[in-house]
Amino acid sequence: ELLSRSIPGLIADPLRFVTAPAVVERLSKDFYWYSPVLKKQLEDKHAEAVVQPVNVEEIRNILRFCYKHDVPVTPRGAGTGNYGQAIPLHGGLVLDLSRMDRIETITEEGVAICEPGVRLGALETEARTRGRELRCYPSTIVKASLGGFLGGGSGGIGSVAHGGLRDFETVRAVEVVTMENEPQVHLHEGAAVHDILHAWGTNGIITKIWLALTPKVEWAQCAAAFDEFASAYNFSEGIAVGSEWTKRVVTTFEWPIPSYFSPIKSVAPQGKHLIFFMIAEAQLAMLEQAARSAGGTVTHSGAYSGLRTTPLLSDYTWNHTTLWAIKHDDAYTYLQCGFDPDRVREQMKLLKEKFGDEILFHIEFMKNGAGRVIPGAIPLVSYTTEERLNEMIGTCREIGVFVANPHVNNVEDGGRFREDHVQLAAKRRYDPKGLLNPGKMLSFQSETEVVRT
Ligand code: FAD
Repeated sequence: ELLSRSIPGLIADPLRFVTAPAVVERLSKDFYWYSPVLKKQLEDKHAEAVVQPVNVEEIRNILRFCYKHDVPVTPRGAGTGNYGQAIPLHGGLVLDLSRMDRIETITEEGVAICEPGVRLGALETEARTRGRELRCYPSTIVKASLGGFLGGGSGGIGSVAHGGLRDFETVRAVEVVTMENEPQVHLHEGAAVHDILHAWGTNGIITKIWLALTPKVEWAQCAAAFDEFASAYNFSEGIAVGSEWTKRVVTTFEWPIPSYFSPIKSVAPQGKHLIFFMIAEAQLAMLEQAARSAGGTVTHSGAYSGLRTTPLLSDYTWNHTTLWAIKHDDAYTYLQCGFDPDRVREQMKLLKEKFGDEILFHIEFMKNGAGRVIPGAIPLVSYTTEERLNEMIGTCREIGVFVANPHVNNVEDGGRFREDHVQLAAKRRYDPKGLLNPGKMLSFQSETEVVRT
């Protein structure tokens, strides 16, 4: 009632305020159903209405009103997150930023200045026409927004060379609007970007982004199959770690994961463990030769001509792997792990001994913040019960495997909360009433509960 009476007057076009239940339901949801645990927890959660601002002034008007009337606000990019990050737990408004999708400029130094709703695919395509490309992007590149990637993502294709989104000053600056009596616009530059990154929209609305790009490379794709998982792993690790190789993707799949890639069955021979590469075109022949020398069979090799390349092997990597598996059998779910590069073989052996084929290895190599390429992993898990899933997570942690738990709905337990608590400190300053995506930053919630009781 209150929202319908007031919000349309705060934006230039009242049609950008939406209350149609089916649309509100759709724009309240993301890919949370990847997790059987979150599916149960979140399926009945939704906003009361959606508003689609087109500029900072409209956002400030909306937030000023919501602050005054204690209305929760959950920002949304494209809603492709897996943790239920964009699902409002306490109703209120979804602030859909998809209409703020301008690429303002790409500077001579290779920094893209953009609005948050720009789709990463549009940015990559534009950057490549200017001799640049994204340093890293999620496999949802075509749909996902840059603001949502900063708010809830971590890395992906390209991370083997350039690290995650939060490494190597990839994000140069962000502009944020605060949730206060009089909403302010603040610029966070340099190290201060970490106050806002990966805070799930709980401590400010990102309205402009300065993103560092990298010089573009002419890429090619290649798939190699191996009889033994150990041989596939060893070969992929050598390419991922070897600084002489220019690569964007090095992904290793344990059989039967490749059998779930139904559109590209010819690339995935029965019973073989598979590696997908995106490699500099100039190194393709050398890579094929190296794969054969290591006992592998090259099952696909070809040019890359942008995101429309068919087949596009990266469509089967990162969390798209999980999607193909769930399409095949919805009892699959996943974990997000980081193996210790010095103990990875022993750690994989321990997990296999304890869990057998309940866990299937899907390795994604990525450079860490210290510049070392490490075996990240998004293993598939055959889900039975929450207890068993937690047992697996517990075992991983006991043997030194890092887990960013994708079966929780809060910033802290998702594994990317900063130990120096800068995201929490920003929330205290920018959202004192706790109205931005409430319930997702637990440390703030517990503080306010202490104050209230
Ligand atoms: P949303 O889901 O809309 O939002 C994500 C979070 O950011 C939410 O908490 C939201 O409130 C907040 N937010 C959105 N916009 C703003 C803003 N302007 N200001 C403040 N907060 C904001 N992720 C990876 O990192 N790497 C991968 O390789 C990857 N692969 C995936 C594959 C599949 C098949 C799927 C379903 C998901 C995958 N993801 C991956 C997760 C997700 O797609 C990405 O993180 C993506 O970048 C999120 O963008 P989005 O626009 O959909 O964000």
